[in-house]
Amino acid sequence: MKLVMKFGGTSIGNGKKIRQVAELVKEYKEKGNDIIVVTSALEGVTDAILHAAHEASGEGNKIKANEFISNITAQHKKALYDAVENDLVDDTIAKLDVLFTDFKNDLNGICSLGELTLRSTDKLSSYGERLVAPILSASLRSVGIESESFTGGEIGILTDDNYGSAYPFESTYKAVKDHISKLSETSIPVISGYIGVNKSGAITTLGRGGSDFTASIIGASIKADEIWLWKEVHGIMTTDPKLVPEARPLSIISYIEAMEMSFFGAKVLHPKAIEPAIRHDIPVRVKNTFDPDYPGTLVVKEQETGENVVKAVTVIDNVALINISGAGMVGTIGVAARVFNTLADAKVNIVMISQGSSEANLSIVVDESQQITAVEVLKKEFINGVVGEIESDAHIAVVAVVGADMAGIPGVAGNVFRALGDNNINVIMISQGSSQHNISFVVKKEAATKTVQILHKEFSLDILK
Ligand code: ADP
Ligand code: ASP
Ligand code: MG
Repeated sequence: MKLVMKFGGTSIGNGKKIRQVAELVKEYKEKGNDIIVVTSALEGVTDAILHAAHEASGEGNKIKANEFISNITAQHKKALYDAVENDLVDDTIAKLDVLFTDFKNDLNGICSLGELTLRSTDKLSSYGERLVAPILSASLRSVGIESESFTGGEIGILTDDNYGSAYPFESTYKAVKDHISKLSETSIPVISGYIGVNKSGAITTLGRGGSDFTASIIGASIKADEIWLWKEVHGIMTTDPKLVPEARPLSIISYIEAMEMSFFGAKVLHPKAIEPAIRHDIPVRVKNTFDPDYPGTLVVKEQETGENVVKAVTVIDNVALINISGAGMVGTIGVAARVFNTLADAKVNIVMISQGSSEANLSIVVDESQQITAVEVLKKEFINGVVGEIESDAHIAVVAVVGADMAGIPGVAGNVFRALGDNNINVIMISQGSSQHNISFVVKKEAATKTVQILHKEFSLDILK
């Protein structure tokens, strides 16, 4: 089989784990599969880089910045020595040294400028993945498999300039295919996930968790038989196992369900990761690196109707609710259009919308990081009448129940809200897409975990079927 295998941060948390991953890839290669590997940064490194970058721009402390680079250097060199045979280390050290120097210069540059743009943030956070690909590739050579490493840009991922959440141009798919077809068939390419390059040659990132997206872009480019996302969980689960220990892995779900789950906060998948797979109907598998024989979750186009109409419960808690209200809105044409255009112009991402039939109120949920911008632009837009009040609240969370079979089945919403009512959970806002693949609603932030637990139980998601 032609397989793209992506390894997440926890799977390659240190040198020993990288070595285990190399052995795992070797095993699948020896079974006769053609494999392309996509890698994330070491566990926690992207967060640490972003933190250091913000500190550098705020404090301008070069001593601290250089200490950070020394730590990153030590961490990656240790990973290299643990993952790679001694006689193969030298070549890779030379490659890494160039990256350590560039990283140091870039971070010192931020200290001097006292300014961190989206473009420089992307360049800095790309070092996590760029440092790991050469190490994992060397580790594969150590276990006797030919391998070369590439960045996302080198393999052909060309994106727009939307730093922090860049999107690949259509031409990417052909470019990646051409690049890969030129490589030796016996060698396994190891590609840095999460990153691409734009037309001006600057490094871009595909958004947090973006290595899933990279794997899927590459899988679609080469028309892989399957795309495998290796993580530290047994698959896509009925809910986040960190919130509900009884959560269990789903053996099979549809593309639409996986997408809905990721849109509504299931961190296990990047929200755009399914989209490229759909182009060529490529199955996506989520597997556990630490239990490789477990089948994991298979994500496919369509799935037979099962017993459970509700498949999963998700939660997003870094969101804010904006309420736009006023008697002047009733019957006034174009208020909603103005709201959406204004938010779109300010690049505010809308998570959820709800309008009461009285038309005197429009509620919108946005990312918490965009709360202030959203309120500012809306107040400016409606400075002269129509809208009475614009209020916002970040102490909320969006909970969603997801399942493609919910469409057309009466009573699911009734069960959701009855269960919440019975448990004294106050629902602030409700929304259901007309596709009926999810029912999502807003609760107070402090009630979110309890809400998820109640619904997980209500729909018997904890019981193995
Ligand atoms: P990786 O970085 O390896 O790609 P992630 O950390 O992005 O892996 O995704 C795995 C994490 O997603 C788990 O630690 C888990 O807590 C969280 N998660 C949230 N919702 C779900 C879900 N429905 N199923 C599985 N994991 C989930
Ligand atoms: N390292 C990146 C992040 O932490 C991308 C990824 O892990 O998929 O967001
Ligand atoms: Mg991830």
